[in-house]
Amino acid sequence: MVEEQLKEVIRDIPDFPEPGIVFKDITPLLQHPELVQQAIEEFAQQLEGISFDVIAGIESRGFLFGFLLAQHLKKPFIPIRKQGKLPYTTVSESYKLEYGQATIEMHEDAFPAGTKVLIHDDLLATGGTVVAASKLIEKVGGHVAAYSFVISLDFLQSAGRLTRFSEHIISLVH
Ligand code: 5GP
Repeated sequence: MVEEQLKEVIRDIPDFPEPGIVFKDITPLLQHPELVQQAIEEFAQQLEGISFDVIAGIESRGFLFGFLLAQHLKKPFIPIRKQGKLPYTTVSESYKLEYGQATIEMHEDAFPAGTKVLIHDDLLATGGTVVAASKLIEKVGGHVAAYSFVISLDFLQSAGRLTRFSEHIISLVH
């Protein structure tokens, strides 16, 4: 099972980025090209039957697998970045963090209205990041077709926040 192999290489880092948080570190996975390839194939399999036109990946770890998956499926890739990083005219969306807030941006001409978008990130925690990304997609007339994550922290029960955009939520590791 890919999930078991992924669990073996993804490591828990206690007290990162602050005390009390256990961070799931996917960087060791990047040392295993064959497992990365299997992960991409597993994403493709789980996405079979779901129709979408482009993949939007969220900075920065969402770029790793998001771009590989887009290449594998021969779909365009759209970067969603932190504020101030994208060079052309952007649309932006702010969202609350535990302390303070964050803003993400996307180029206003990233795709034409009516485009069906798969949103990809490495990890689903509270869902705040991908809810903000979903609002960005809708701001320019796109539709969220599905979400994909390497890891879902299911105990946080965040999937319910996403279903108003799309019911298709896939993860390789739960
Ligand atoms: P959320 O917005 O769902 O609460 O948090 C998800 C975002 O924070 C993702 O962009 C993800 O990269 C990052 N994140 C939060 N916790 C972790 C973690 O334990 N491991 C990794 N790799 N990313 C995390």
